[in-house]
Amino acid sequence: MKAIRGAFLDFLHDPFYRDEQDAIRYLPDGLLVIDGDKIADFGRYDQLADKYADIAMDHYANRLIMPGFVDTHVHYPQTEMIAAYGEQLLEWLEKYTFPTELKFQDKTYARSVADRFLNMLLMNGTTTAQVFTTTFPQSVDAFFEACSERNICMIAGLTGIDREGLAPAEYRDTADSFYTNSKDLIERWHMKGRNKYAITPRFALGSTREQLDRCGQLKGEYPTAWVNTHMSENHKEIAQVAEAFPEASDYLNVYERAGIVGPKFTAGHAIHLSDDAFQRMSASKCSISFCPSSNLYLGSGLFMIHKAKSLETPVLVGLGTDMGAGDCFSILRVLNDAYKVAALQSQKLSVFKGLYLATLGGAKSLMLEDEIGSLDPGKYADLVVLDLSPTPALAFRAQNNPFGKDQTSEEHQCARMEHDAFGTMMLGDERSVEATYVSGQLLHRKTGTPVH
Ligand SMILES: [Zn+2]
Repeated sequence: MKAIRGAFLDFLHDPFYRDEQDAIRYLPDGLLVIDGDKIADFGRYDQLADKYADIAMDHYANRLIMPGFVDTHVHYPQTEMIAAYGEQLLEWLEKYTFPTELKFQDKTYARSVADRFLNMLLMNGTTTAQVFTTTFPQSVDAFFEACSERNICMIAGLTGIDREGLAPAEYRDTADSFYTNSKDLIERWHMKGRNKYAITPRFALGSTREQLDRCGQLKGEYPTAWVNTHMSENHKEIAQVAEAFPEASDYLNVYERAGIVGPKFTAGHAIHLSDDAFQRMSASKCSISFCPSSNLYLGSGLFMIHKAKSLETPVLVGLGTDMGAGDCFSILRVLNDAYKVAALQSQKLSVFKGLYLATLGGAKSLMLEDEIGSLDPGKYADLVVLDLSPTPALAFRAQNNPFGKDQTSEEHQCARMEHDAFGTMMLGDERSVEATYVSGQLLHRKTGTPVH
């Protein structure tokens, strides 16, 4: 057993639907006890100190400790092509993405990128992600092998694309090879250790009807598997989907007809949605990955977070970097863009709403809230330790926090933390991440190279 002492913040409820102060749990001086890979106890330091006086303790003074961040949509094979210049979705795929992803036929290369990618996530405080791979099964093996070594909770799956004209012939799979390879990968990796499998048609336009039907068949055979894809990202893409699937009433309906929409189904982007589509997503309890950095970078559009988090059509929402279409690995930087996407639609994204999406909200959107997302005993000890003033700008801002250190009431301390945490939401990046724990193990600390 070991313990971590410091200031802790996590969420007990969704602040989009509750008074924010009731939704958060903030302990200015707390103690979190880890037994093996899980949280064994958590509470105020003064109440637990005597009970755990004999165990080793890491003390993080002047830091904020939270559950590790959750990235619900990211592409590990695109690590090397982040910040590709000048194209929107379909041209960007053709010009940059497929040539890069072809390299992942080589398993050794795939493994080297998987290691680099996971270390980048840890450097940014992300401890769980839902991850796209390529059409090559060896790229999935390489990824899960890298995850298994770290005992880290990742969702990933073979990423199918079989429609002629959408990708080079040497990149495409077929409906049958996708089914056979997916089945084999599910058998070998799904729920083995902390690995989780997502049936992953890349996007409707990339798949034939036959391949999407195979996805539905796989979901029927493996109901505990996740389903991960893209949806309604770009106007040109949406028009081509309508042409390719004339029988479907809209983009969402393409997936509905394949029988894959429901709990554990995540649609990346979902920018251009009708009220009816929001209503159907809400009723089916599927989820959306909100990827504002990517949506701005590729000029795709503004996701309507206020509709997804409305009382009328509530949809589960998590955040995604969508790296490499997104230009960062950092969920904090994604929150900066999320704030601005909301502002462009005359909406406000508070720091607690933002950090909820980054932690418990993301976990719930993936139906992983029993395992991760908060600091409740029994969950995995996946943690991020944040430095709220790591840069000159943030340090100066914190020095001028209107809630000075002279007052020590809990309300005052919380208001002080809220002010500094919002600074971090807007100005933070990997410099804000002091340390990252996965399954109770320290896998990253800021001062050096990754611990792993
Ligand atoms: Zn994506």
